[in-house]
Amino acid sequence: MISKEILSIIACPKCKGVLKLINESGLVCEACKVKYPITDGIPELLIEKAQEIDEQTSNDPTASDV
Ligand SMILES: [Zn+2]
Repeated sequence: MISKEILSIIACPKCKGVLKLINESGLVCEACKVKYPITDGIPELLIEKAQEIDEQTSNDPTASDV
């Protein structure tokens, strides 16, 4: 689980903006249009981990964690 306290202290590594929790396995930066994975409850806020998201598909269950 990602708590709101954690959400309040983490930020997008690209723009330092607010991240939005979309589900238990992903955080989205709407400014950068990227999604960061959450692995075992730990957000991987690395630019290398950022996955581009297309337009309105932020809720898409794209479970392509290869
Ligand atoms: Zn950003």
